[in-house]
Amino acid sequence: MATTFIDKARITVRAGDGGNGCVSFHREKYIAAGGPDGGDGGCGGHIILQVDDNLSTLMDFRYKRKYTAEKGVDGSGQRKSGKDGKSLTIRVPRGTLVRDAETNEIIQDMSGDEPYILCRGGKGGWGNTHFATPTRQAPRFAKSGLPGESHDVVLELKLLADVGLIGFPNVGKSTLLSVVSRANPKIANYHFTTLYPNLGVVYVDEGVSFVMADIPGIIEGASEGAGLGHDFLRHIDRCRLLVHVVDVSGCEGRDPVADFDAINQELRQYSPELAQRPQIVAANKTDIMPDDTLLAALRAHVEALGYPLYTISAAAHQGTRELTRAVAGRLAELPPVTVYEANYVKRPPKVDMSQPLDIHVEDNVYSIEGPWLQRLIANTNFGDYESRNWFDRMLRESGLFDRLEAMGIRDGDLVSMYNLEFEYQH
Ligand code: GDP
Ligand code: MG
Repeated sequence: MATTFIDKARITVRAGDGGNGCVSFHREKYIAAGGPDGGDGGCGGHIILQVDDNLSTLMDFRYKRKYTAEKGVDGSGQRKSGKDGKSLTIRVPRGTLVRDAETNEIIQDMSGDEPYILCRGGKGGWGNTHFATPTRQAPRFAKSGLPGESHDVVLELKLLADVGLIGFPNVGKSTLLSVVSRANPKIANYHFTTLYPNLGVVYVDEGVSFVMADIPGIIEGASEGAGLGHDFLRHIDRCRLLVHVVDVSGCEGRDPVADFDAINQELRQYSPELAQRPQIVAANKTDIMPDDTLLAALRAHVEALGYPLYTISAAAHQGTRELTRAVAGRLAELPPVTVYEANYVKRPPKVDMSQPLDIHVEDNVYSIEGPWLQRLIANTNFGDYESRNWFDRMLRESGLFDRLEAMGIRDGDLVSMYNLEFEYQH
């Protein structure tokens, strides 16, 4: 039995670095002293997540764990900007939660169709063309590109289906799904032995449809971790309604009432909240019932508990329409599928500022570079007050301003670091 259903994976993603700006001067025969013409570096590509309904497992992430987007190309002479790096789109099954690997906070619930930018590419550095001023006609410096963002994340699949099928093995869940749904052919072809669970769209009437999931593996003892079931139970967490399939034929010597109670007991042990989820009972295999003693007993039992019961034969396509109509009717009254709110808080990274920065002075312009400064800038959101404050504090703590003072910087001199330029103010 090849049932490696991968529903959790840890990956490292890294957006592309920005390309470097270029130092270059215009050269033409017979023309002396050409002006600066170094172009800008291109931006690094983003890491983008996108839902793909042809996927229903995270299996691909088991074999590939590192994802890097393309770098921006360096600028060149003749004011040529470098090309932007290509963004990398990572496809995930619908319902994939993206969590921060360290804190487990939710970064994004990939339930919708909007692409999500998980990591932004680094900005490209400016070429020396940008730094020419009337008093500084031949700037011999350009800026390096900024590093792309990177992140360790955990992907966790929490399937998005309106309806989950539950019940013992062999009661006819897969048969029911295949009969009532238009199975997605692409899904069917996709490593079909490892494809669990199975999703299908059920078209009821014009404009009325829902997604049904066949979650295998609910067996007795599953909630105590005895069987496969435990792992699978969490896939019905988000289902709005459960269709509980029970075999009432007695052909395998099963007792429908005992089966029904055993499955609900499993659910309760796993999650009391899940056990409260609305259920519709589908009494299956009525085509091979010798008589209706077992069916009558099950009906009396579940109706006393308040569950509606529908008799069907999935194999003979009997009663399935009534069942799916009833499911659609009930779904119309229920709240929509839960979408998880992001609760991830971006924290300022720890920056090791022990390495001294390179300071280069030319025409009262203080150009400052260094790996940690690069990282600091890449992690600052300059549109955000808190973030700017943090940036300022870090620079002060690093002793940079003291060094600049010692070098003789004066108010109004220009400080230039990567894509930032500001006038020095004591
Ligand atoms: P699952 O394990 O719950 O997914 O059950 P399956 O859908 O794989 O069905 C198990 C067996 O029961 C298969 O041999 C089916 O053909 C058979 N089966 C399913 N539904 C019916 C039904 O309504 N009547 C009869 N006679 N057999 C059925
Ligand atoms: Mg099955």
